[in-house]
Amino acid sequence: MHIKPEEITSIIKKEIVKYEKNIKTEDTGTIIQVGDNIARVYGLDDCMEGELLKFPNGVYGMALNLEHDNVGCVLLGSEEGIKEGDIVKRTNKISEVPVGEDMLGRVVNALGQPIDGRGPIYYEEFKPIEAPAPTIIDRTSVKEPLQTGIKAIDAMIPIGKGQRELIIGDRQTGKTAIAIDTIINQKGKDVICIYVAIGQKQSTVANIVNTLDRMEALDYSIIVASTAAEGAPLQYLAPYAGCTIGEYFMNKGKDVLIVYDDLSKHAVAYRTMSLLLRRPPGREAYPGDIFYIHSRLLERAAKLSKEKGGGSLTALPIVETLAGDVTAYIPTNVISITDGQIFLETDLFNSGQRPAVNPGISVSRVGGNAQIKAMKQVSGSLRLELAQYRELASFAQFGSDLDNDSKIRLEKGKRILEVLKQKQYEPMRVEEQVLILYAISNNFLTDINLGYISEFEKELMKFADTHYRDMLKSIKTEGSLTKEVKCDMEECISEFKKIFTENE
Ligand code: ATP
Ligand code: MG
Repeated sequence: MHIKPEEITSIIKKEIVKYEKNIKTEDTGTIIQVGDNIARVYGLDDCMEGELLKFPNGVYGMALNLEHDNVGCVLLGSEEGIKEGDIVKRTNKISEVPVGEDMLGRVVNALGQPIDGRGPIYYEEFKPIEAPAPTIIDRTSVKEPLQTGIKAIDAMIPIGKGQRELIIGDRQTGKTAIAIDTIINQKGKDVICIYVAIGQKQSTVANIVNTLDRMEALDYSIIVASTAAEGAPLQYLAPYAGCTIGEYFMNKGKDVLIVYDDLSKHAVAYRTMSLLLRRPPGREAYPGDIFYIHSRLLERAAKLSKEKGGGSLTALPIVETLAGDVTAYIPTNVISITDGQIFLETDLFNSGQRPAVNPGISVSRVGGNAQIKAMKQVSGSLRLELAQYRELASFAQFGSDLDNDSKIRLEKGKRILEVLKQKQYEPMRVEEQVLILYAISNNFLTDINLGYISEFEKELMKFADTHYRDMLKSIKTEGSLTKEVKCDMEECISEFKKIFTENE
């Protein structure tokens, strides 16, 4: 075969015409130090604060310290195999988390990836982990109740949709229990629940998932877990990721409840990161911006205005105290950010008063507006009566002679406390709460033995549900207690009391 030189030149010419310069520039840097989930990278001059960086083994990092000659970043994965001199690439993206409806019922990590072994999740979009809180114009006042199903809370420390209510107490005082019961109580109420576990044991998280599943509450819940086994950076990111997922639903006009369990561990994770990044330590060795990391997280809770779709994000942060000390750094910070706190006490818990809510120092600054009228009517005097009871009880301890009036108050106080006791996983409907609170505040329980009160309550609910169903319904629908409803309630309670005392 004979090749002509003209043919070759024409082919070469064609190729030259087709040739395109396909240059892709990538900003890269070199690792100068790595360890403890922290890396220092040299040469990333244009890097942004909070930008995602790509490390060699597919691990992502987040740039946090933009310094004069290097960038300090945290690794969002294992640092195995990453070494000094490795190349780091910029992604030009601020940290994001994928969101979507498909996440309901799933357990994800702080990066939104599934960790429950139930296959991939279909995501709709990516959203930045840190987002500005809704503006003043976008918001409206808190005016709808978010029922926890717990008598002590719904009656005395009511929570509204869009509120931020802190749950605070020592270890093992039932903090998580209150949050989980609240999630369980949202069944059928069209509220999406997000539980963010920060720095907890994996077994604890597994238990919570199982409980929610068993109580049929998993379908409308998302669990964002960053356990103690994961590094501080992921624990730090988890609440922001959870909040972003919640915001996605809120912006669609839905009501969302988010639990941060707990922000003490979150602060500790951030302190670890900051110290390793060599940021200067302040009080209790926390960095200077520790207040801001919590305030910007909790400010994202909101009740949106009608124009913005009317969705809401209610936040229940949890903080653990040491020996009941609420004056420590993190507790005071979070108390000042939130719209109230539910204070749980070890002494109450151990004496059997569970949930161990101390009504004296627990408050809800905005929720009262959201309480349904009927509840307001029956629970109005509860706090006062309990306060009087506590005062009298401390006198009575000295064995001093009490006048009749004091004795009556003491007996009533004891019965109120008994009524406020509630088992775990047994949330109560608001109409049932109103009925039993009506009974106690109108002295129907004075002659019932203390030991029988919980049984009385249980049986009364059954009785009302079979014989007075309409009355229960109208408590809920009518809002306030009309004369007829009051009459019905009195009739119902006296009728039942007759049966109850006869059987005893
Ligand atoms: P930790 O500090 O370990 O996170 P916590 O304050 O979250 O603890 P929980 O784990 O909620 O406390 O509860 C501690 C224990 O008390 C659990 O075993 C729980 O079952 C029990 N408990 C909580 N609330 C009640 C209740 N209302 N009635 C009976 N037991 C309860
Ligand atoms: Mg707990």
